[in-house]
Amino acid sequence: VTEYWCELAWLGDLDGRVERGVAITIEGDRITNVTVDAPPSGVRLDGLTLPGMANAHSHAFHRALRGRTHAEAGTFWTWREQMYRLADRLDPDSYRRLATAAFAEMVLCGYTAVGEFHYLHHDRDGTPYSNPNEMGMAMFAAAAAAGIRLSLLDVCYLQADMTGASLQGTQRRFGDGDAATWVERVDQLRPASTARVGASIHSVRAVDPASMSVVAAAAAARGFVVHAHVSEQPGENAQCATAHGCTPLELLGRTGVLTDRFTAVHATHLGARDVPLLQGRAATCCVCPTTERDLADGIGPTATFRDSGIPVAIGSDSHAIVDPFEETRAVELDERLASLRRGNHRAGELLAMATANGYRSIGWPEGGRLAAGCLADMTTVRLTSPRLAGTDPAEAAAAVVFGATASDVSHVMVGGRTVVCDGAHQQLDVGASLDQSIRALWS
Ligand SMILES: [Zn+2]
Repeated sequence: VTEYWCELAWLGDLDGRVERGVAITIEGDRITNVTVDAPPSGVRLDGLTLPGMANAHSHAFHRALRGRTHAEAGTFWTWREQMYRLADRLDPDSYRRLATAAFAEMVLCGYTAVGEFHYLHHDRDGTPYSNPNEMGMAMFAAAAAAGIRLSLLDVCYLQADMTGASLQGTQRRFGDGDAATWVERVDQLRPASTARVGASIHSVRAVDPASMSVVAAAAAARGFVVHAHVSEQPGENAQCATAHGCTPLELLGRTGVLTDRFTAVHATHLGARDVPLLQGRAATCCVCPTTERDLADGIGPTATFRDSGIPVAIGSDSHAIVDPFEETRAVELDERLASLRRGNHRAGELLAMATANGYRSIGWPEGGRLAAGCLADMTTVRLTSPRLAGTDPAEAAAAVVFGATASDVSHVMVGGRTVVCDGAHQQLDVGASLDQSIRALWS
């Protein structure tokens, strides 16, 4: 049993109210008691303590693209060609080293859980490794070494486009041939205690409707969450209208994918009938603002989601930037640019996106909250940095959402274990790990 005493803690209030002197008792990987206005005792955490934050959409290997693709012109589709060139270079060992470093950067920045949208499954010519889950096992090992909680959202990817064209070149590494073979492979995944498995449909481009139904049924039978890239680009909507006469979300609805365990990643360019559909099925949307701005995707309708009661989660996706505060405040600030109106999402609502909503989206509904019975995942932000010095304690949640950067994270706990202390990762030199793993890939 360990006792922590938080100078300030945000306990989930959507207006952003914070509590002072919060004592948190932890046994094993769970919080067993939370008391406000408690006298100092146990391990002191100065600053503002938040529930752990979930990065609900990640492709770990994209971290090696940072600084190598962002200055370019071109489109999402030309960027994708560059990403494929990187995917071509990875093997299980280099993928594990890169993902370990990328996940460690996430923890250092305050993320305590990640939903890894994992599609790089097979060898370069598309042949499965002797263990067909070799790459997935590399993700489990990477997350364990980095100290982050993982949902391996294993991706079904079967075709090159909506005409059913077969996978070519790098894409062959993503494909299992058919949905039944995907189910068979996923059933062999064996996660450790801080990891779970979920399902993903890469997009309506990459999976045909009959196979979507197979994935949806398998996920329902196993209690998996299901994620899919949805309407990130207008081009996908146009292709879906031509091939199926409907929007991507309508197609996912028809094939049984849209449920309260479903998360639509991006959901940037939605049609008029899409929002009621998401609302009716109680699905979540995961927005990835720093990636969406990098790829010139557009701005998703998050104020409409809020008005419709559709939960929003956040993800760093391509890792152009890894910073949960930058991601979270972008939800509000991008909405201001689009709507010419301030104050669309309150500070507490934005924190809920980064915490409880993200945890639920990736299949850990018992996380992302500081409450008895919940996972002992917490992130503490010091308020004494040049960015946050002078913060009014009563306004600490808003100060952190709108003013903090990842560098202000001082303490991170995952499952009751301290992974970051005084701003340092306890197991890894994160900068050196990133440097070595990324240079090795490009040399
Ligand atoms: Zn993505």
